[in-house]
Amino acid sequence: AAMVKETIRVYARVKPLGRRQQAGSYSVAVEEEPLSSLEITVPRDLADGFVNNKRESYKFKFQKIFDQEAKQDVVFDSIAKPVAECVLAGYNGTIFAYGQTGSGKTFTITGGAERYSERGIIPRTLSYIFDQLQKDSSKVYTTHVSYLEIYNECGYDLLDPRHEASKLEDLPKVTIMEDSDQNIHLKNLSLQQATNEEEALNLLFLGDTNRMIAETPMNQASSRSHCIFTIHISSKEPGSATIRRSKLHLVDLAGSERVSKTGVGGHLLTEAKYINLSLHYLEQVIIALAEKNRSHIPYRNSMMTSVLRDSLGGNCMTTMIATLALDKRNIDESVSTCRFAQRVALIKNEAVLNEEIDPRLMIVQLKKEIQDLKDELELVTGKQRTSELSQEELLQLDDLIETFLKDDDPDSTLDVGADMRKIKYCFVHMKQLMKYPTTSHEKLLSRDIPEEEAEKEELGKLKELLQQRDNEINILVNMLKKEKKKAQDALFQLNATSAGSTGLERSLSTNFEDRQSPSLCFSLKETKDFSSSIHRLHFLFRQTGGKMSPGCREAFEVFQRDHADSITIEENKRLLKQRFAEVKCLGEKLNEVRSKINHLKGEITQRHIQRAALAVSNPSEELNMIDPVEEKLRMQIEEEKKSYKTMFSRFKGLKVEIEHLQLLMEKVKMKMQKDFEVWWSEEAKNLQQEKPEVVTSPNTVTVYPQFIKSSQHLSANSFSETTRAISNEDPVWKTNSIYFSNLHKCTFFFRTPPSSSTSIPLTGDSQADADILAFIKARERILQRKG
Ligand code: ADP
Ligand code: MG
Repeated sequence: AAMVKETIRVYARVKPLGRRQQAGSYSVAVEEEPLSSLEITVPRDLADGFVNNKRESYKFKFQKIFDQEAKQDVVFDSIAKPVAECVLAGYNGTIFAYGQTGSGKTFTITGGAERYSERGIIPRTLSYIFDQLQKDSSKVYTTHVSYLEIYNECGYDLLDPRHEASKLEDLPKVTIMEDSDQNIHLKNLSLQQATNEEEALNLLFLGDTNRMIAETPMNQASSRSHCIFTIHISSKEPGSATIRRSKLHLVDLAGSERVSKTGVGGHLLTEAKYINLSLHYLEQVIIALAEKNRSHIPYRNSMMTSVLRDSLGGNCMTTMIATLALDKRNIDESVSTCRFAQRVALIKNEAVLNEEIDPRLMIVQLKKEIQDLKDELELVTGKQRTSELSQEELLQLDDLIETFLKDDDPDSTLDVGADMRKIKYCFVHMKQLMKYPTTSHEKLLSRDIPEEEAEKEELGKLKELLQQRDNEINILVNMLKKEKKKAQDALFQLNATSAGSTGLERSLSTNFEDRQSPSLCFSLKETKDFSSSIHRLHFLFRQTGGKMSPGCREAFEVFQRDHADSITIEENKRLLKQRFAEVKCLGEKLNEVRSKINHLKGEITQRHIQRAALAVSNPSEELNMIDPVEEKLRMQIEEEKKSYKTMFSRFKGLKVEIEHLQLLMEKVKMKMQKDFEVWWSEEAKNLQQEKPEVVTSPNTVTVYPQFIKSSQHLSANSFSETTRAISNEDPVWKTNSIYFSNLHKCTFFFRTPPSSSTSIPLTGDSQADADILAFIKARERILQRKG
């Protein structure tokens, strides 16, 4: 098989400086083409504690360095496109981002959460790959994607379609299995088929959402876990038995920062101080690989190095992106990222074309070949071929053999013709004669020893041949069995994953159906709302067994309005609207052009009819003469077709952009909800911790143990009753005017100074009272925080 030997390509990307960040000192220079170098100067005050050899300036070489202003499309073009091309050609590929938390790994691999232009390597690669596949009609392609998160040595399947995970542990656990050939298999990681870009993007979105939801402030999953998005491609030429399979891993590694930043010299830090042990193991693997003559590479020490075994020092085209935050405070981390990168650059990989034979197709081909040969034989011999000789032929052969054996002439030959069946029969017959010799033959044979030996030799050869064929057949049968099992497993997995279908999955699939509709009709839904967002909140309150209370819903609305991301949402909404209008307009224009083309076609047909009629009535007319009118019509059609084509590709581009924008907005919404949920449950938790006897009025009810539980039963009705009851009895409350059904008022209430009243009249409705108290507590806490 074809093989490419190459060192791992290493690039650097420098993140733009934040507004309040102090710039670190560095410079980028193009060295000997195509290499560039990055020189970092460590400030004096830092250098003392940081480097023990007192060096102040470091120089690192990279394939290319993308400085602060480098845009995502440029990064994709120079880093990911070449890798995607190799993967399309049948080689494995890996791109991984390495750097401290906040240096831009996720931004580079997945993209920013706000703008379409900020799409990262994954969506751009998907787009590129599907574009290329569509263009190549010489092969049949199948694409699948998988998305794995590794946290604390445990793997999780991010493409779990149930969408119910509220923490990482809810996702299906993925484990590593090693087969007898030491190949790594990931058990429980679902491979989802994606037949086009949209399906793949939806899966990416599903995974990213699961990734985000699973992340809690407690485990800080994003900075401590590795995420591996993999695109699996298999291709086959029609009729060929050879299948090419390749994988592209796009890896967002855990943050590379060390626990203690200053104090001890950078490389003196003990290994145990790594935040992420698996990154430490990655480094060990890299060191071992960079050393010459090392036979043992410690891949098995961690799940991540096991999964990426082929990407590091194996059958893969691998690329690393070192992400750097080169502000003054992060200079030391950047230097260690660069050092790591320099070691990685020494590793050589050998990528081979991954080709295998499909035994089923092989058998079909062989059968066909046999039939062809049989036909050919029949043509040559003029005789029908059957696998067995006729009785008559057998008798004839017996006679021939007998004559041959009896003939003493050393020149005599046994000629049965070029028919393997007959030749074989002769040998079998001879064997019989040798094993059970009759007296007459005995004499005959014992006299003729040399001939006997020749036969023996021949027989041995034949036996050997027979054995070889037997082996071949066994191998083929085994291959077939394996394939069958694979197919069954795949089917089983497919069934298993589709069994737990949920709303989201269903809605995704209905979306797909929409898109597959053959007509060009404008099928995007303009008023795609965020109903799934509401679902999630419902889900959140599922544990407490009910719907979100109106109060909670309103709180969410206010929260949403004040959330920093709401500006982005508005902006994207505006953009979406614009795009929708554009797409709608284009759709109309496309339809117009289509009907124009149809009209022109109709005119041509009309013209044909006219000319035919003319030919009948006026036969002298030259029939073959080119009709200038028709020519003109054809040219017009060509023109229209051209404009149709350009409009259509723009139309398609817009559709993809719209979908991406919708996904982005959905993502931001989800994030907002998550923030809200955290805030809300923190409030609830704090409430539980405080003692309930704060309220001691005579008609006070003992206060609820759980805030959420009570709030969900609250109806809008009980809110207004509460309000009335309060404002009637206490003037303080009247002036503060809380209306629970209106959270704006509630925020006002929060901002007013604490009143001296310690006893609050309650309504007697324990649920309503619970909510009142919740707001009071929340208010106190907010005021405390302000003070
Ligand atoms: P990491 O994944 O390494 O922890 P992120 O990708 O989340 O870091 O980046 C941290 C922040 O910096 C994010 O808000 C991200 O949008 C922003 N960011 C990172 N790189 C860039 C860049 N090249 N251009 C603009 N913003 C960036
Ligand atoms: Mg990240």
